[in-house]
Amino acid sequence: KRKAVIAGNWKMNKTAGEAAELISALIPEVAGADCEVVICTPFTDLPVAVSKTAGSNISVGAQNVHFEKSGAFTGEISADMLTELGVEYVIIGHSERRQYFAETDETVNKRLKAALAAGLKVILCVGESLAQREQGVTSELVALQTRIALGGVSAAELKNVIIAYEPIWAIGTGLTATAEQAEEVCKTIREVIAALYGKAEAEAFTIQYGGSMNAKNADELLAMPDVDGGLIGGASLKAPDFAAIVKAAS
Ligand code: 13P
Repeated sequence: KRKAVIAGNWKMNKTAGEAAELISALIPEVAGADCEVVICTPFTDLPVAVSKTAGSNISVGAQNVHFEKSGAFTGEISADMLTELGVEYVIIGHSERRQYFAETDETVNKRLKAALAAGLKVILCVGESLAQREQGVTSELVALQTRIALGGVSAAELKNVIIAYEPIWAIGTGLTATAEQAEEVCKTIREVIAALYGKAEAEAFTIQYGGSMNAKNADELLAMPDVDGGLIGGASLKAPDFAAIVKAAS
């Protein structure tokens, strides 16, 4: 099986001081893990996260990036600003960005291409709402989100992309997709990658599940053949909880 990637999405949680504390607790707990470990912190925590994790097996990511290189875009952060800090990953297209900050598949595509051009690794988020699932359009929707987001991305660039399947109805609700539901959509995403880039590329591609993943359900989700890791919200904010998921993936 592919090596798992377990990423924490801290969302808008932890001041820089709190981040330093959480990272200090996390480092010994995940040392030696047989999976990739990433923490995606608020922008203001990135400097402390990069310096604190130096020499550890934890990589640092941001939660968004703007598509322009610089200019009159008040409140935005460019890819170069992130790479200069030593940031390695960036989450793009999280459903909270799409819902609350008017992100579209088109702006997601622009951000993704800008991030890749700057040398960042991207965790691209896709996923359906409850209404969309009940309408039976999940596969079509996720396939379309994936195809539009990856427009203009070369096979070489794809090596720096991970997709996180996050059903919106499972985020922060305590309601997890069943392992079968997660597998079904992750498999669909892999088929889309195969159609776009070829079978070998699809086999090597990392697809995470996200949505109320925790120490209790991680084993079952990660055991599915097309689930290669997790994007963890709430459970990434406590070192023992996040470490237990990392352990499940190792
Ligand atoms: P929760 O794990 O809190 O449900 O959040 C999932 C998520 O949105 C990660 O990006």
